[in-house]
Amino acid sequence: MPTLKKKSLSLYFKNRCDRQLLLYLHSDEERARLGMPERQKARPGLGKAAKAGHEYQFKRVNELIDVLGDRVLHGGVDPEEENQHQKVDLRERLESAEPYALIVEGEFEVPASFLRWAGVQELLGDPGTGEKLHNDVRPDLTEVLPAGWSPGGKRVTPQGRVVSIPADDPRLQVRVVDIKLASEPGANYFGEVAYYSVLLASALEAWGLDDRFVVLPQAAIWPGSYDDSAVVRLAREGQALGLPCAADELFTALHKDFEEIDVELFTPRIMRFLREDLPRVLGAGVEEAAWHPNYSCMGCEFYGHGWEDDQGNATWRPDHCKQRAAEGDGRLSRVYGLTRSMALELEHQGVASVKALAALTPRAQPLQRTGALRANAAKLVARAQALCQGEVVPVPGDGLTASMPAYTDLKVWIDLEYDPSTAITGVFGIRAGWMEPREFGAESEVKREQREWGRYGDRLVFLVERKDLDLERDQFLNSCAR
Ligand code: SF4
Repeated sequence: MPTLKKKSLSLYFKNRCDRQLLLYLHSDEERARLGMPERQKARPGLGKAAKAGHEYQFKRVNELIDVLGDRVLHGGVDPEEENQHQKVDLRERLESAEPYALIVEGEFEVPASFLRWAGVQELLGDPGTGEKLHNDVRPDLTEVLPAGWSPGGKRVTPQGRVVSIPADDPRLQVRVVDIKLASEPGANYFGEVAYYSVLLASALEAWGLDDRFVVLPQAAIWPGSYDDSAVVRLAREGQALGLPCAADELFTALHKDFEEIDVELFTPRIMRFLREDLPRVLGAGVEEAAWHPNYSCMGCEFYGHGWEDDQGNATWRPDHCKQRAAEGDGRLSRVYGLTRSMALELEHQGVASVKALAALTPRAQPLQRTGALRANAAKLVARAQALCQGEVVPVPGDGLTASMPAYTDLKVWIDLEYDPSTAITGVFGIRAGWMEPREFGAESEVKREQREWGRYGDRLVFLVERKDLDLERDQFLNSCAR
C-alpha cells in the first residue's frame, strides 16, 4: 500500500532515483512483506543531524515567541518529543488568525480533491481499506500576512498555477515557511515548500476558506545562520530604547532572513513527478525501477555501506545497491566518472556491464556516441579494466593510472570540518607521512625510516572554537602558514 510522503518527493528531487522513490513509498513492514530491501540501520550521525535540526528549529521558534508574543500561534512544547513544538490544527488556527501571525507546526490532511486531480488515487493506497494515500502535511511555519502585502499581486491555485489577483483583493495572504539547519538549502528543500504551497491552496478550497485567504507564490526557507535573526535584533534594540516595534516592522525584519522562492518555477516539476514519474515507478516494481549508485547515494539508507553495528554484525544486505552493483559482471555505475546518462547510452548500445566495457577499445563505436563518452573513453575503459583485473591500469596517452596505487611514498591528509548550518569551517587539520627519501635504485642494508608530521598532539590542528568569521579566517591562514 504505497503512501506518498514529503520525504519521497524531496529525495526524488535530489537524487532522481526511481528505486529509492519506490522503496520510500512503502513502510518498513510493507517492504519486508514485499521482499524489498530493508533500511540500513546504524547510520552514524544521522540521528544526531536530525536532533540538531529539531533543536535549531525549536530555538528559532522560541526566539520568535519571545519577541512576537501572541502573534506566534503554537501548541506548546511536545511532551513526547524533547525540543519540539506540538502540532496544531492548521484549519482551526487559520479560522481565527489575524494578519501578521505565524502558525507553528500547523498540520492538515491532503484533500481528496487534490489526489483526484493529480491522478494518483488509483496508484496509491489500497482501495477499500481506508488507508491514507498521502501522509499529513505540516509546514514548520505558516505565515499570515495582510491583504495587499505581496507586491506582485499573485496567488497559487490548487492546480499549481500562479495567477494574478487584483490590487484591492481583500483576502489575507498566507505562505509556507520551512526552517532548515543548512546555510545553503538545496533545491529539494525549495521543492518541498513549493509542493506544500500547492497542497495548502487545495486545502483552503476544500475547507471553503479560499474566500478569506490566498496562498502566496513566495514560499520561503529560513536557513541556518550563526547570527541572531534580524527580527530578534530589532526587537531587542526597541526594548532597550523603550520603544516597542510595530508588527509590520518586526515582520519586515523577519523576512530579511528568509530565502524566498517562486513556486511557479517548481510546479511543472511537481506535476511531472505526480503525473509521470510516480506512475512509472509504481508500475515498474523493485527489480525494474532504474538505479545508478554513485556519490549522491551517500545518505541513502539502501546503499549498503560497510558499517557494522555495536556487536560487530554487518548492517549491509545482499540486496542493497552497493552489493547488487558488484554482482556478476558488475554494474556500469561502479566505474568512477561514468554518469547515469552515459550508462543509459552504453546500455542502449548493448554494453551493460563493467566486464563488457573493459573489453572495448577507447575507439569502439559505443564509446563514440556522445561527446561525454568520447572525451572520457580512455579513462572509462582503463577504470573498467582495473576493476576487472584488480590491478593498476595505465590510461593510454594520459600518463595517469586508472586506480589508486596500493602503495605511495608520501601521504598528505588535509581535514576540513565544515558546518553546513553556519557555513563556517570548525577545524583545519593537516597530517603527512613519508618514507625516508633515497636516491632511485640506491641499495642499502638499512631499512628506510618512516617519518610522520603532525600525527600526535594538536599542533597541526587549528580549531575555530567560536562561530566567528574573523577567527575562522585567522585559523585558515595559520593552517596555510604551516
Ligand atoms: S543507494 Fe543510490 S541507487 Fe540505490 S536506491 Fe539509494 S539512491 Fe538509488
